[in-house]
Amino acid sequence: MSAEPAAAPPAGPDRMDQYAGTGLELRALQVRYGGRVAVAESDIAAPPGQITGLIGPNGAGKTTTFNACSGLLRPSSGSVRLFGEDVTRKTPAARARRGLGRTFQRMELYDSLTVAENVALGREAGFAGGRPWKHVLSSRREVAAIADAAARALELCGLEVLADRRPADLSTGQRRLVELARCVAGEYQVLLLDEPSSGLDGNETKRFGQVLRQLAVDEGVGILIVEHDMALVMEICDYVYVLDFGVMIFEGTPRDVATSDLVRAAYLGSEALDLAGAGG
Ligand code: ATP
Repeated sequence: MSAEPAAAPPAGPDRMDQYAGTGLELRALQVRYGGRVAVAESDIAAPPGQITGLIGPNGAGKTTTFNACSGLLRPSSGSVRLFGEDVTRKTPAARARRGLGRTFQRMELYDSLTVAENVALGREAGFAGGRPWKHVLSSRREVAAIADAAARALELCGLEVLADRRPADLSTGQRRLVELARCVAGEYQVLLLDEPSSGLDGNETKRFGQVLRQLAVDEGVGILIVEHDMALVMEICDYVYVLDFGVMIFEGTPRDVATSDLVRAAYLGSEALDLAGAGG
């Protein structure tokens, strides 16, 4: 069994002062598949209280970078740091216990459970963590904490009215919010969101963006988001990194990105980018 992590950062906006400038950091991260470099020497910072975008054309290395962040694959060189601690060689579960949560491109909700139960799982998993016996011997205090965290997450994501429904009965947008609420219930300090708006209509995307802003600004969560919807990226991100063929070609504010010739050139021929109306 792995060693217990250092004390987790405090929940709520207080942590913004205490951990300002840290959060998730990638330093000179390089990932190879066999002999081929998929991500070359990238530096990325996703600080608390901010939404950081990671964009780039298909095959640029975004998912690879995410997988290195969460520990699903090990970089060939460079490091992943979480609140100042080097977690490069830690498992995904160990990183989760230190405050790193993620969603996947493909949603994984349990249709046999209600929305509230799906959301509660996000917190229960945290309690199980490195001590599985705790899962079985949950104290009354922990049961109450799980219920509180789930209720809070449902409220934050505007899902109270759907609490007793099954995910199968919901729209794609609602299901995405349930998935986000499950992450929120886990009370992670940093969230990795992989294309969270895919399949959402315009209104659902807007609502989703509002919840993310609230999470960052009010709760102090650091969010790193891979997203193809450029309008959403430009609207909600504080800072954006642009990957192309595994190389970080640009970073800056959404406005900087929107007016960059380098970024425009990288997306040439791609339908994914409409920078003309974004951020400028
Ligand atoms: P998309 O926007 O299409 O999801 P992406 O930016 O997330 O793309 P990655 O999926 O990280 O890009 O892929 C980066 C490069 O690494 C691509 O050239 C891809 O073909 C390659 N690649 C991804 N996964 C593997 C793997 N398991 N083995 C070998 N090569 C891979």
